[in-house]
Amino acid sequence: MNPDTLFYIIITILIVDFIFDKILDRLNANHFNDPVPDDLKDVYDNEEYEKSQRYKTTNYKFSTLTSTISIVATLAFFFLDGFDFVDRLARNSSNNEIVIALVFFGIIMFASDILSTPFSYYHTFVIEEKFGFNKTTKKTFFIDKIKGWIMTVILGGGILAIIIWFYKVTGANFWLYAWGLIAVFTIFMNMFYTRLIVPLFNKQTPLEDGSLKNKIEAYASKIGFNINKIFVIDGSKRSTKANAYFSGFGSQKQVTLYDTLINDLEEDEILAVLAHEVGHYKHKHIIFNLIASILLTGITLYILSLFINIPEFSMAIGVSQPSFHAGLIAFGILYTPISELTGLIMNFISRKFEYQADLYAKDTYKAEPLITSLKKLSKNNLSNLTPHPTYVFVHYSHPTLLQRMRKLKA
Ligand SMILES: [Zn+2]
Repeated sequence: MNPDTLFYIIITILIVDFIFDKILDRLNANHFNDPVPDDLKDVYDNEEYEKSQRYKTTNYKFSTLTSTISIVATLAFFFLDGFDFVDRLARNSSNNEIVIALVFFGIIMFASDILSTPFSYYHTFVIEEKFGFNKTTKKTFFIDKIKGWIMTVILGGGILAIIIWFYKVTGANFWLYAWGLIAVFTIFMNMFYTRLIVPLFNKQTPLEDGSLKNKIEAYASKIGFNINKIFVIDGSKRSTKANAYFSGFGSQKQVTLYDTLINDLEEDEILAVLAHEVGHYKHKHIIFNLIASILLTGITLYILSLFINIPEFSMAIGVSQPSFHAGLIAFGILYTPISELTGLIMNFISRKFEYQADLYAKDTYKAEPLITSLKKLSKNNLSNLTPHPTYVFVHYSHPTLLQRMRKLKA
């Protein structure tokens, strides 16, 4: 295929993706002022509802602005032969293909991160601050950034270097070795994420002895579930928004509760949230997601292996010398329609899983405190109570508050 044709296919995908996203955002925004369903009238009082309306509108405008700047910058980069420029810079730094690829991606990722930092700074310190969510200090913000870079360089750079080495040594079979590597890494991260990565950013302490812990232990023994790792994380260091999650499996399984969750909810409600998380575990959702993500990675890598040594792929993004890293960029964009589709399917499955976990909490504990906790969390996060169904279908990994409540009351 002609590199010019491929170039215009890439540009078309970028633009169509952007327009589709904007239409969906707009559709959702058109329903910001829909009447609140009767079941949800008690979530906000009038003043809080006004505030949530302003929050939604502010975020909508901000994301429209940033995504527009981003697509314009991306297209300019493509049309001004930005990849060729960066490729030449990288080639001047070394003769080794692996080093060249690392420098190439390093420059692109670092530059795009620097460009997006003012926007994320504004989002945290102006928007989130104004609505009372932000607890991040400027120092934490910048230290997070630096830690994130170091992690990307070590983990991302390391994995990329090994994959390119596989490609050099084994040719088109590289995908099998790359798959093995990523699978092992994914499983390892799943098991040890809370122990190795979370402590870099947060403090986690075992849940203190007391009535909450006693109730959790009583619930756990009632359902015959061994949860000896219950940790409280200092989410309040960054935001007032609350959360809880389950991680790991086997002996590494752990429940993490945000300190904000413990402050916002009654003990009964925390237990209901915990029962929901146990539901995910009991229904094997965690293992399912892990296997699905490994399988999807394998399929993607296999398709990549069919295209990566076609020089036109590299040339489509304007570089003069074909390479693995240039081909990877072209492939990444050409693959977006497929990854959007798998994203839709994964969101669809995830919403089913949420109902199952809710039902588990209802059966083994109680529905009522789960409903009130979901309402409180929606209120505290200034959530949108009237999202558009199409927007929900595409973007939501959880059913809406109304849908979950109706299922729980059924
Ligand atoms: Zn859930």
